[in-house]
Amino acid sequence: MNEQFQHKARKRFGQNFLHDAGVIDKILRSIRAKAEDRMLEIGPGQGALTQGLLNSGAQLDVVELDKDLVPILMHQFGSKPNFSLHQGDALKFDFTSLNAAPNSLRVVGNLPYNISTPLIFHLLQNAYLIRDMHFMLQKEVVERLAAGPGGGDWGRLSIMVQYHCRVEHLFNVGPGAFNPPPKVDSAIVRLVPHETLPHPAKDHRVLERVVREAFNQRRKTLRNTLKALLTSEEITEAGVDGSLRPEQLDLAAFVRLADMLSEKPVAA
Ligand code: SAM
Repeated sequence: MNEQFQHKARKRFGQNFLHDAGVIDKILRSIRAKAEDRMLEIGPGQGALTQGLLNSGAQLDVVELDKDLVPILMHQFGSKPNFSLHQGDALKFDFTSLNAAPNSLRVVGNLPYNISTPLIFHLLQNAYLIRDMHFMLQKEVVERLAAGPGGGDWGRLSIMVQYHCRVEHLFNVGPGAFNPPPKVDSAIVRLVPHETLPHPAKDHRVLERVVREAFNQRRKTLRNTLKALLTSEEITEAGVDGSLRPEQLDLAAFVRLADMLSEKPVAA
């Protein structure tokens, strides 16, 4: 890199820059960007993935929070007609401002660990715009995203993301692929929003409430954790065994509980 553009990685922005060419290539091959694609990269950093994405010919918008990276990115990519840079916080970014067609946006990011969960929830508010998402995340987070019922990884994150998306844990990446190396292992995950929700809830905010309440005390029975929301009889009526613990229920069962709550007359 040009001397005038030396950048020191900042911890507060979660900056761990990818430098392993083999890993970068493997990620780009998993994404398989095409010239007709509409792409959005969150946190391009010094452009480790950006270059390959632009080489595909895809239209690429990037959102980067660190102002000091703007001249570096503009120097490298500013002259490319398929590149647009937005300096700002991806958590506050209005994805509808991109004017992408429904089911078209392909989102990519080696995400800072502190924003990964809120960012996924922020993106899912506009899930109808998104075709797929490829993220580098902390390995534990990917394991929770991809988990199935019955184990300790199954919880609010798995359920609310799987409500909207198919989840694929693609591969793991060790700390040595980054500069500076993070203290944790990472993994690449692919999230593909369902075109038709497999278990649509009457009101998805009610589902969120039931799941949050259920997992607030994951060691207790559902009858106990949900008692402020549903009676023991209502839980049974929803076809759920109230003596189970929340981690034993699948997504469809949580949706039945949420629908039972949605139908419940509001107390005067
Ligand atoms: N994509 C680059 C790579 O793979 O080398 C950088 C990855 S680094 C883990 C995360 C990047 O996200 C940094 O460039 C950081 O400045 C940026 N970032 C951190 N918080 C952000 C936010 N809220 N919105 C947008 N970008 C953010």
